[in-house]
Amino acid sequence: MNQAERDRYSRQIRLEQFGEKGQQAILDASALIVGVGGLGSPAAMYLAAAGIGKLVLSDYDIVETSNLQRQIIHPDSAVGDDKVESGRHTVKALNPNCAVDVIPYQLEGEELRQVVDSVDIVLDCSDNFPTRFDLNRACVETRTALVAGAAIRLEGQIMNYQPAADSSCYQCLYPKAYGAEESCEMEGVLGPVVGVIGTLQAVQTLLILAGQGDELVNRLLLFDALSMQWQGVTLPKNPECPACGGRATA
Ligand SMILES: [Zn+2]
Repeated sequence: MNQAERDRYSRQIRLEQFGEKGQQAILDASALIVGVGGLGSPAAMYLAAAGIGKLVLSDYDIVETSNLQRQIIHPDSAVGDDKVESGRHTVKALNPNCAVDVIPYQLEGEELRQVVDSVDIVLDCSDNFPTRFDLNRACVETRTALVAGAAIRLEGQIMNYQPAADSSCYQCLYPKAYGAEESCEMEGVLGPVVGVIGTLQAVQTLLILAGQGDELVNRLLLFDALSMQWQGVTLPKNPECPACGGRATA
């Protein structure tokens, strides 16, 4: 770590749980962010600002006017652009030292597995069950940490998969897609509520990279903005889980 980095990240290094060792781990780390929308915006921006070495941004959408209310990584001038390119532009403006790779299409199959295997941690910032299941499975198969967030209306949730702790995974929570999938387009969502969850994904990612973050092992955290309540729910490993069941490794 050079002096410029020591200055830039000094407030973080000062934290006893991080220190120079934790900061170096963040500088050396790479993260895949799937979905550069309401969750991915604050997650990518905070991780870049915190000094993460490399971000891989994956999204096949273009920026629309109706995104701007909550997807704060995209400025008004980016409407019509690829979300990943707009995201890269903002991240680079925040911290030019952060390397950014972009994947402007849906990651699937073996390629998804390879990209997941190539990074230290994955953030699920997507908005649909098929993507969430594929991503979770790739993380379980490659034993890559996953931080999954979701938000709709005035509610949000966050959970994670930590292979080092042999924790429960996303499909322990949702073995299969259930009912008609709800969407923010149909149900609506308050921008800062998505921001709270995406920001919390960045918090949890930084904690895990610095060797902390055990509090969310086997636990789902729910946020309700209307009642201003947080609720932690135990999320045990499901032996019947289609993704990690029977895969418990010593
Ligand atoms: Zn599972």
